[in-house]
Amino acid sequence: MVLAELGGRITRAIQQMNNVTIIDEKALNDCLNEITRALLQSDVSFPLVKEMQTNIKKIVNLDDLAAGHNKRLIIEQAIFNELCRMLDPGKPAFAPKKAKPSVVMFVGLQGAGKTTTCTKYAYYHQKKGYKTALVCADTFRAGAFDQLKQNATKAKIPFYGSYTESDPVKIAAEGVDRFKKEKCDLIIVDTSGRHKQEASLFEEMRQVAEATEPDLVIFVMDSSIGQAAFDQAQAFKQTVSVGAVIITKMDGHAKGGGALSAVAATKSPVIFIGTGEHMDEFELFDVKPFVSRLLGKGDWSGLVNKLQEVVPKDLQHELVENLSQGNFTLRTMYDQCSLQIPLNQLYSMLPGISAELMPKGHGDESRAKMKRYMTMMDSMTDKELDSSNTKVFNESRIMRIARGSGRLVREVMELLEEYKRIAKQMKGIKIPKNGDMSKVIPP
Ligand code: GDP
Repeated sequence: MVLAELGGRITRAIQQMNNVTIIDEKALNDCLNEITRALLQSDVSFPLVKEMQTNIKKIVNLDDLAAGHNKRLIIEQAIFNELCRMLDPGKPAFAPKKAKPSVVMFVGLQGAGKTTTCTKYAYYHQKKGYKTALVCADTFRAGAFDQLKQNATKAKIPFYGSYTESDPVKIAAEGVDRFKKEKCDLIIVDTSGRHKQEASLFEEMRQVAEATEPDLVIFVMDSSIGQAAFDQAQAFKQTVSVGAVIITKMDGHAKGGGALSAVAATKSPVIFIGTGEHMDEFELFDVKPFVSRLLGKGDWSGLVNKLQEVVPKDLQHELVENLSQGNFTLRTMYDQCSLQIPLNQLYSMLPGISAELMPKGHGDESRAKMKRYMTMMDSMTDKELDSSNTKVFNESRIMRIARGSGRLVREVMELLEEYKRIAKQMKGIKIPKNGDMSKVIPP
């Protein structure tokens, strides 16, 4: 996961303080210096990092803390709060309303994932009951209209564009007009991107904005953009009034710190992140749970939401029952794989699993892995699937499963290790008897 390494380094820097007998100025400085290095190496812009360091020092005044105060906890909390502050510009983004047409315009460099994200955004809102529509005003990139058309058709979303008209402003205005007449709630306009920031791109963007009067302009940014993120985001903000950011390719291996800088540059919140190429690999972004996941503290509300979203209603009760009894068996894991919740998404929401330890890979890799796991679990007996103790898997059983599923012994062992890891985390969860998953108590 993007930022995984950063999360791991910050967590380790905080843990280092466990090894010193007294938390004094030096211990605090060592910790902050390590965090500073980690942030800079992850491409967070220098002024932001500096500001964070100064703020933490102001908040954690070691001299004023009476003996008995848990200084490590106070420092940890200050770091958590500062990371949240860095990602939270303090004002929410415009939220489209049903029954009143809202126009949302997407901007960003070519290849950032704009067209893909437009459809994901439309699809997300369509599932929530919005009447959405897509307008392709990207006349620069050959194939952009076909791509949007293909995605929109797959998601059954109305679209507008042209193969012959070369004026993006005209297309955007006509599309928005048409969908307003058709009483759509949410009209999404995809604009052109260029390989780099160019005056012509910005002028075109400004004209499209002028013609469509968007309620919200979303800046789409690739998470691997690096140190250039701050300047790039600022350049877009200076031309059109960017009101929100979406960061794509968060499933990749990029350092990703630039994403933090984009928030500061646009003073706009990140509203979603893209976690894969598929339509549903798109997550609502919430600052606190994100930072919590980054620092390996889990994200219960995210886990609960995800489960509620993907688990069919009639199975939710059973799942809650199983989990509330600490009954996470291989069969539960099989069910979870069959729901196609990418394992890394699920893991990242569990406390105690730092982002660094998460299985790496894109959505497709994760899907392939789940398929592999299911094939191996298909070769297990009922007794094996229902046992929560991996000790039953002796050598001959492992060999049998490998043979039966046509997989390697090493792969069966990997599955069992992964199961053990997740089962350990699940053990301590307390879920209320009434099944209200929003009241889940983490271990
Ligand atoms: P545009 O030029 O900004 O419109 O970019 P596209 O939407 O065409 O996306 C460029 C490439 O990035 C395509 O291959 C997309 O499938 C891919 N892409 C977009 N979003 C994501 C994401 O969140 N994760 C991954 N792994 N790939 C993405």
